[in-house]
Amino acid sequence: MKYIGAHVSAAGGLANAVIRAAEINATAFALFTKNQRQWRAAPLTAQAIDDFQAACEKYHFTAGQILPHDSYLINLGHPASEALEKSREAFLDEMQRCEQLGLSLLNFHPGSHLQQIAEEACLARIAESINRVLDKTQGVTAVIENTAGQGSNLGYRFEQLAAIIDGVEDKSRVGVCIDTCHAFAAGYDLRTPEACEATFAEFGRIVGFNYLRGMHLNDAKSAFGSRVDRHHSLGEGNIGHDAFRWLMQDPRFDGIPLVLETINPDIWAEEIAWLKAEAPL
Ligand SMILES: [Zn+2]
Ligand SMILES: [Zn+2]
Repeated sequence: MKYIGAHVSAAGGLANAVIRAAEINATAFALFTKNQRQWRAAPLTAQAIDDFQAACEKYHFTAGQILPHDSYLINLGHPASEALEKSREAFLDEMQRCEQLGLSLLNFHPGSHLQQIAEEACLARIAESINRVLDKTQGVTAVIENTAGQGSNLGYRFEQLAAIIDGVEDKSRVGVCIDTCHAFAAGYDLRTPEACEATFAEFGRIVGFNYLRGMHLNDAKSAFGSRVDRHHSLGEGNIGHDAFRWLMQDPRFDGIPLVLETINPDIWAEEIAWLKAEAPL
């Protein structure tokens, strides 16, 4: 069974995200549990938690179909200790919000070295950040997203994702989310079924499908190998429809949230319907 949806807005309350997902016939969704461009947020109220959980029940979303995303400000590999501490605290808050909501996954971008520390040192910091937060929380898996490798962002090579996982003590609560646009921009070809086969064989070899907890389904405005992160609607970018058809037909992507972050929310319902039609029942 494929769980297919989009990163919906939580404006007006987290429960609204659930309703928006239901409106586009999604069977998965992503959301921010706080304003993604601010460090601080008011704690979740008991009412907000109840409303969210009631909406999930009403529209039949279980925790395994929901992939919350953390704030863009957080850098778990920050080279400066004070800023690193600030990021770790914010990430702990994000994990605790997921815990309170009864969610089981939290998707985040690994971190950036900002040209100030070596890649290996940054990857080790990220792993240590995950260890600290996992120690203080229960039931939520830290889901590392691959990046396009823009600027000094790490996590654009499968080897880097594997290195972070290697440094995490509790392997049962670490996973990865593969964003197709990011992978393509980072130099993993997806333009043909053969290219998809080769890219995901490499993923299986280097990271392992046992760590795959979610996918972001995005076509790419950016060029192959450009290390530039620009999403596009499915079939309208440089990846093309074939990759998404291939993904829908492969059972290794069953049972995890498959989330659109494509640029035109007005056609999400159509994109979801197309993806569903490509997936065998
Ligand atoms: Zn993404
Ligand atoms: Zn992106």
